[in-house]
Amino acid sequence: MQMNKNCPVCGQATEIEVGFYYGTSYVSYALTVALSVATLMAWWVVIGLSTEDNRFFYWMGFNAVLLLILQPWLMRLSRSLWISWFVKHDPYWKEHKPEDVSERLNADQAANW
Ligand SMILES: [Zn+2]
Repeated sequence: MQMNKNCPVCGQATEIEVGFYYGTSYVSYALTVALSVATLMAWWVVIGLSTEDNRFFYWMGFNAVLLLILQPWLMRLSRSLWISWFVKHDPYWKEHKPEDVSERLNADQAANW
């Protein structure tokens, strides 16, 4: 759950305003839905689905455990995607300093997500 306050390479702040990462829940949700659809399709092809037995419920258990195991990775991927949509790459980042975001932050609300 720990994050660098700034990028160790270019110094870009990783939390650019209060509550910046709240939106990552939607990204994580979309990723987990896509992953669930993919595992359901794979389950259907490899193991099969039927209304005559409990294979669908076994998939639900498998998928729940898989999503719990992958949650730290999904959280990091969601945050990486989220910040990439709001902080554009600067090809001259070595010459330009990152934007100062200190006036948009509140130390009492830092990492309050
Ligand atoms: Zn960087």
